[in-house]
Amino acid sequence: MRRPLTMHPPFSPNDGSPSEPQPLSAGGVPVVADVDVVVIGGGPGGFAAALRARREGCSVLMVEKFDMPGGVHTSGLQGAANPGVGGIHTELMERFHREGCIYEANEKNLPDWAGNPLSHYDYYLPPGSPFKRTSFNPDGAGNVMVRMLEEAGVQALYGASFVDVEMVQDGTERRITHAIIETVSGRQAIRGRVFVEGSGTAEVVARAGAPFVRGGGRQPQTLTDGQSRPIPGGLLWIMGGIDFARTVAYQRREDDPALGKLIDRARAAGDIPPQLYRPRMADKGVYGDHYIGHPTVDMSPIHGPGSFILWQNVPYEWALHMDDDAADASRAKKELRRLIDAEARFLVKYVPGFENAFISHVGRYVGVRDGRHPIGEYVFSIDDAREQRRFPDAVTRPMTKTFFWDAYAKYSFEVPYRCFLPREVNNLLLTGASLSFTFETIFMVMRNFPWCTQTGEIAGLAAARSIRQGITPKQLAWTEPLF
Ligand SMILES: Cc1cc2nc3c(=O)[nH]c(=O)nc-3n(C[C@H](O)[C@H](O)[C@H](O)COP(=O)(O)OP(=O)(O)OC[C@H]3O[C@@H](n4cnc5c(N)ncnc54)[C@H](O)[C@@H]3O)c2cc1C
Repeated sequence: MRRPLTMHPPFSPNDGSPSEPQPLSAGGVPVVADVDVVVIGGGPGGFAAALRARREGCSVLMVEKFDMPGGVHTSGLQGAANPGVGGIHTELMERFHREGCIYEANEKNLPDWAGNPLSHYDYYLPPGSPFKRTSFNPDGAGNVMVRMLEEAGVQALYGASFVDVEMVQDGTERRITHAIIETVSGRQAIRGRVFVEGSGTAEVVARAGAPFVRGGGRQPQTLTDGQSRPIPGGLLWIMGGIDFARTVAYQRREDDPALGKLIDRARAAGDIPPQLYRPRMADKGVYGDHYIGHPTVDMSPIHGPGSFILWQNVPYEWALHMDDDAADASRAKKELRRLIDAEARFLVKYVPGFENAFISHVGRYVGVRDGRHPIGEYVFSIDDAREQRRFPDAVTRPMTKTFFWDAYAKYSFEVPYRCFLPREVNNLLLTGASLSFTFETIFMVMRNFPWCTQTGEIAGLAAARSIRQGITPKQLAWTEPLF
């Protein structure tokens, strides 16, 4: 029997009917809702899990810290519209198109972009070659996602932070009974049968006391000094009012393709703080060029003409664990804003084409690239990809991906359902960046938007199937790929 959504005060309508006494959890926290599936975090993983579980007939409550779903891709401004892979991801991209949220830059409306060293994604293309860079407007897309959840009947709580769990022993494992959240009404409990980890940083796993590996696993050889350095996270920001044709004219006229001459001049004048435009580190290809240095302006078109998104990554040397260390998290927020401010001032003062540019958005949060990696019933490793292993509980048909960790080798592999099942907790399903993968596989290959949405959909379906069968997600036999 599936449970209807039960909302207790303060979420019940204030219609003058006599109010029921508010139930309390075992820990004494007011229980405000009782549902089949509780999803923590509304990023691509949590969003798709909530939608799929609801469409399968479950009552679903999704808790999201910010004001919209989409995670790194909306609140974090990422906005890259990766093509569809079927299921909810394709539906989402089609809906963004239909609702006018998609912007496409190409060689006609943005000539001289392909092959330009300032391009985050397209710098490696032959100069002047055709290209297509499709992005969505993060706030517009977030609004669409809010509506999609409403249309499906998902109860979404925005501005609500998950902070803890209550659990009971269930056989040899433990079971989550309640998610504890903080809202403007104070601390509240949500009772559920199945819980979905959609925080992007395995926060539910950590609060449930289930095992995980901290971010900052194996490090580049040149930097092994015993300190754990996660792959740097980043704060994304958008500048409007850029006349890129003027910038290109300057690059050509002064033979200054990466703006190095302007950067040197600004540095000599004391206008560039040391961490801005720092050199890339050795071991190119270990984490990819983008994340371990930032020697020049790094941007990509978004929203429409004259508007570009820029990256401000945490300097790798700072070794910040923003997902589990409050001081690190606060330092990243403060310092990255300082660097964004300095970069904007440099661009406006020194770079032709930026004279009238302005900061239009800064991401709501610093995205974590290498947070906790939960240990699941199966930990997917790079050897599973190299050996192209097949699994009886594969969630998708074989996928072929490029592993630039392995000199850009392409492997065709499957992912087992067991990667969605954290050890020691029997009613929690993992999604997105919090799957049970080693960090080489999750970071380098398996954390993109389409895959995170797919994993959410798989988790949502698994939650619904296990509830329908009256078993836990761990007892569920997964026998056919979904995608
Ligand atoms: C800086 C950066 C750039 C990236 N660039 C790209 C790219 O170009 N292309 C690409 O495909 N992928 C990119 N990625 C990777 C991709 O964005 C992530 O892997 C993906 O978004 C993970 O999805 P998720 O649903 O697991 O988590 P997230 O997208 O991180 O979403 C998690 C959600 O949970 C919410 N949340 C977290 N904690 C709580 C809590 N305690 N209570 C309530 N809500 C909570 C957050 O507010 C957020 O909405 C990038 C990642 C980062 C960090």
